[in-house]
Amino acid sequence: MAVQTVAGTSTTTPAFADNPHQNSFGPAVALSCRECGTRYALTPVFACQECFGPLEVAYELPLGDPEDLRRRIEAGPANIWRYAPLLPVPADVTAKQNLNPGWTKLVKADNLARELGVTGGLYVKDDSGNPTHSFKDRVVAIALEAARTFGLTTLSCSSTGNLAGAVGAAAARAGFRSCVFIPHDLEQGKVVMAAVYGGDLVAIEGSYDDVNRFCSELIGDPIGEGWGFVNVNLRPYYGEGSKTLAYEIAEQLGWRLPDNLVIPIASGSQLTKIDKGLQELIKLGLVEDKPYKIFGAQAEGCSPVSAAFKAGHDVVRPVKPDTIAKSLAIGNPADGPYVLDIARRTGGAIEDVNDEQVVDAIKLLARTEGIFGETAGGVTVGVLKKLIETGQLDPAAETVVLNTGDGLKTLDAVAPTTGPTATIRPTVAAFREAGLA
Ligand SMILES: *Cc1c(COP(=O)(O)O)cnc(C)c1O
Ligand SMILES: [Zn+2]
Repeated sequence: MAVQTVAGTSTTTPAFADNPHQNSFGPAVALSCRECGTRYALTPVFACQECFGPLEVAYELPLGDPEDLRRRIEAGPANIWRYAPLLPVPADVTAKQNLNPGWTKLVKADNLARELGVTGGLYVKDDSGNPTHSFKDRVVAIALEAARTFGLTTLSCSSTGNLAGAVGAAAARAGFRSCVFIPHDLEQGKVVMAAVYGGDLVAIEGSYDDVNRFCSELIGDPIGEGWGFVNVNLRPYYGEGSKTLAYEIAEQLGWRLPDNLVIPIASGSQLTKIDKGLQELIKLGLVEDKPYKIFGAQAEGCSPVSAAFKAGHDVVRPVKPDTIAKSLAIGNPADGPYVLDIARRTGGAIEDVNDEQVVDAIKLLARTEGIFGETAGGVTVGVLKKLIETGQLDPAAETVVLNTGDGLKTLDAVAPTTGPTATIRPTVAAFREAGLA
């Protein structure tokens, strides 16, 4: 990768030096091209004008006494804003109308560990505890603040379900109009949650990848004037929200890094930004520098990154998704190549499980730890099991597996095989007859 420069000489996008909103972005100083390093001002742009590479937020991080920074963080609120010194948000962010997600439970999963033969310690980072019951509240919270700074008035997204709900809720609270786009065939729980907050919800006759293409077109149209698509034109800011998962896991472990992380992959944004967050923690001296391995998890019916990993390819060939794990059903993942880099660099791997294994893993997590994850949680727990069985993940090492959403939103996945043990008349005799006494 090229050395970062301070170029950005384009006429339509303000150069890095002319940052018009500097005070609103805390320690962030620019957008930087992931491919060629060209820098841009902090504006609603998302692709490099030199090479079309994705842009990401670059910082001047508060390098100083790590003990001071740690104390400052620990004194902060029990949500993602405790990490405001490391995020592209204004210093007074806690005073804004926001859903304040984060600081979800890191559950020591001893029962699941026993079942899977993990001896080095196993934790579930349970992001179903967020305001709209998925990890998406983290990314939306940051994108919302960027939209506010840029004076955008409509909040939008292309969504596999959870993002639509998170955008609808955040917009409702912050007083934005919202108009979100989903594929027409999503789970009822996701559709209802996306609609209940009162914004506009548009179901598109097509797959997520069609929805995403449509949104890109809308941004280029005069209709899209004043619109913040959290995962398109606000994507550089959106992505930074996932860093807070890395920060929380490290802090909740007592300011140290685990050996292994098992992370779901849809577009791959979350996985790449968790790695970015872990690298920052090391750079800042907040945790001891030690190796960690990142494992990516996909559903077999939408496993383009896993397929590329196994084939030793650097590029990801798009697929047509067909899986019950709809929240992860992105056939053309934007951050796929970076996910491959990270899995290879850290010595991790990318695996996939079929729908039956997803359902089994949802139930396994539920019956061992009392955590009802959505299908994406079935994917990560199922992949963890497979990684251990195939010798790709060391069970004697310490592992954190992510559950990124709530099982109540994907009831259909388990409903056909889950129900009453017996249905009886209200008499003791009937109970005895049912063989449950
Ligand atoms: C969106 C989503 C992810 C990951 O998405 P990325 O696009 O890879 O960042 C994971 N789990 C759930 C439940 C999601 O909704
Ligand atoms: Zn570039």
